[in-house]
Amino acid sequence: RAFNFCAGPAALPEEVLFQAQEEIANWKGVGCSVMEMSHRSKEFVSIAEEATQDFRDLLAISDDYEVLFLQGGASSQFSMVPLNLLGDKTSADYVNTGQWSKKAIAEAKRYCDVNVVASSEEQNFSTVPDFGQWNLSKDAAYLHYTPNETIGGVEFDYIPEVDVPLVADYSSSILSEPLDVNKFGLIYAGAQKNIGPAGLTIVVVRKDLLGKAKSFAPAMFDYQVHAKAGSMNNTPPTYAWYLSGLVFKWLKRQGGLKAVAEINQRKAEKLYGYIDASDFYSNPVEPRYRSRMNVPFVLANSDLDAKFLQKADEARLLNLAGHRSVGGMRASIYNAVPERAVDALIEFMKSFEKEYA
Ligand code: PLP
Repeated sequence: RAFNFCAGPAALPEEVLFQAQEEIANWKGVGCSVMEMSHRSKEFVSIAEEATQDFRDLLAISDDYEVLFLQGGASSQFSMVPLNLLGDKTSADYVNTGQWSKKAIAEAKRYCDVNVVASSEEQNFSTVPDFGQWNLSKDAAYLHYTPNETIGGVEFDYIPEVDVPLVADYSSSILSEPLDVNKFGLIYAGAQKNIGPAGLTIVVVRKDLLGKAKSFAPAMFDYQVHAKAGSMNNTPPTYAWYLSGLVFKWLKRQGGLKAVAEINQRKAEKLYGYIDASDFYSNPVEPRYRSRMNVPFVLANSDLDAKFLQKADEARLLNLAGHRSVGGMRASIYNAVPERAVDALIEFMKSFEKEYA
């Protein structure tokens, strides 16, 4: 297998893939694959419950929160959040730190007045707006932000303290470090980065925020409907749920999120350290807010981009192209990307620099 730096769907732990391979046609002797089981069978219900509990354990989620395993991607949450959390209010606060914030804002505008309380767009999304300068409104239903911008590689190094429910799109940094879930009203994340395969979206929502969906909200867009049905109002993404459960077990075997966070920190420091020391590569993000998960970088001479990607592919370092909206390069170094993959990338970057600088 090659080293895979894809931003998503992203690398999965090899151990998990091999276990899934072993179990694929006949799960624990029951005679069929998890893919072929009824979601209401006792076998699948046990898989789902165990995965949910492991996820709760990893993030130390209290009984005050529901954990939902949904479909529709993080993009559906851009609508589900306002549809469920506005209640009687007519506005919500949003922070704009990049392309994913902008998409969340655009969608929320269909349902309410959006106050963009802070934006780093003028800085070309290379930083996080200073919290002291945020223009928070008094009557917002909630505040939404994106703790890690996958495209720009910008990550908050703090959790904002606000008086309204805090809502976070944790798609690209959930499970990368311990998190105090109690600070949030709602957290959501598409699975295809640090959780498991695409097709699953996890929502962690404080129970007192349920039951306020707009009357016109489709049932499938009502958190309460999913909470009451144990995320089985309809057929859930069973295989993705199972595979994510294997990832949670793998994370526990690593020593939990504290241990994982230390490895992530080391990986990121190595890669940024090399980029900063070189004149050939650069990263535009203010160092304090550099993402530990997504490391964008550009070559001093962009004419060499195609060559860089071709040579990287030949060296079995996959998916290093930056997002199509920004170009350049991006190395996504999620939990499942091992430290030796980062070492191999740095070695490759050094030899490319030597040959072409
Ligand atoms: N939010 C963030 C931060 C993302 O990185 C992504 C996808 O990369 C999305 C939302 C959209 O997720 P999905 O494709 O699951 O709808």
